[in-house]
Amino acid sequence: MRIPAAFALLFSGVAAAILIAQTTPASTVLKPARVFDGETLHEGWAVRVRGNRIEAAGPASGIDPTGATVKELPGATLMPGLVEGHSHVLLHPYNEVSWNDQVAHEGLALRAARAVNHLRATLLAGFTTIRELGTEGAGYADVELKQAVEQGIIPGPRMLVSTRAIVITGGYGPKGYAAEWTVPKGAEEADGDSVIRVVRDQIGRGADWIKLYADYGWGPGRGSHPTFSLEELKAAVETAKSAGVPVAVHANTAEGMRRAILAGVETIEHGGGGTPEIWKMMVEHHVALCPTLAATDAITQYGGWKKGAQPEPRGIQQKRESFKAALAAGVTILSGSDVGVFPHGDNARELELMAEYGMPNAEVLKSATSVAGKVLHLEVGSVAKGMLADLIAVDGDPVRDLSALRRVTLVMKNGVIYKQ
Ligand SMILES: [Zn+2]
Repeated sequence: MRIPAAFALLFSGVAAAILIAQTTPASTVLKPARVFDGETLHEGWAVRVRGNRIEAAGPASGIDPTGATVKELPGATLMPGLVEGHSHVLLHPYNEVSWNDQVAHEGLALRAARAVNHLRATLLAGFTTIRELGTEGAGYADVELKQAVEQGIIPGPRMLVSTRAIVITGGYGPKGYAAEWTVPKGAEEADGDSVIRVVRDQIGRGADWIKLYADYGWGPGRGSHPTFSLEELKAAVETAKSAGVPVAVHANTAEGMRRAILAGVETIEHGGGGTPEIWKMMVEHHVALCPTLAATDAITQYGGWKKGAQPEPRGIQQKRESFKAALAAGVTILSGSDVGVFPHGDNARELELMAEYGMPNAEVLKSATSVAGKVLHLEVGSVAKGMLADLIAVDGDPVRDLSALRRVTLVMKNGVIYKQ
């Protein structure tokens, strides 16, 4: 309740202090050794936060600490909270339980209980925003988990959610049960005109993004094959766009990627089968790539590959080559790992692999901060006046040595400190 100022004079000093707290948001000055602002590194900068926004960022001598709580962060780099562009908090690592068995056998409350832990681990690892790309059979649980975070019931990152995701009839798992109607599908099926209905329904239930599968491992023969027609994808994108909702598409084949680009999607997930022509189209149509290198790395290891002790399997070599080709072509890269395949909180694995596959450290950091903020249409990812106060401190200089990302010493989300 807000108390009229004149009335407050009648109250004790405590009440007056509460009144001041209500009208003047708390201010904090963070003084690290340096600031990575989402683009470049600045030695000797400081940052002032008021409420949930960054009020000032620049050389420490120019940041007024009057009335603020000052936090010294010696040796640390202050930077934007990291963005995970592709997560599944309702999944846990496939070497614990296969995807199929999670979807088929694990109930909603069990999955949500795990997700609560996953969200906390993600936030404390310095990832202050995630884009959830499908509940994989857990209905609309992502919408409610987001509510739980926003209402302060559980700690977690800022969430963009896409609810159930959309697949063609017959294209997705779990499959092969004698009575399939008793087993939940990993995503919602739609075809032809029903694509429009399902896009609208998912938006109505809280989807911030729409996710579709433009190809998948189905039909005769091994490997992925295109699923939705170009017309179906166009109908989905047009329907989502008219509601102001962007579209992300799973695509691993050149044809699936081509249809997705021509349909007007904003991001392509995985993109393993990109060709020179496809990368060029992505640049021309401003479609970002979310490479999910860490998922391929993890799944290959679950399949028996002893990383470091054995030569790289063909699948890993192909993933590295395709990522390098996308980089060379100038495709916008959104850092996104498909975490859930591997442990939540280990999200930095994607950034480490991007660097290992040839992306300069500063570009890696941008893809999880400033570039991610732009691709996801959020006021995060940059340390600048007016941006949302999602900030982390890491021990060391991550531009020189990415291992600093594994030493997160402070996490602030929306102006609130969750770890220090
Ligand atoms: Zn995924």
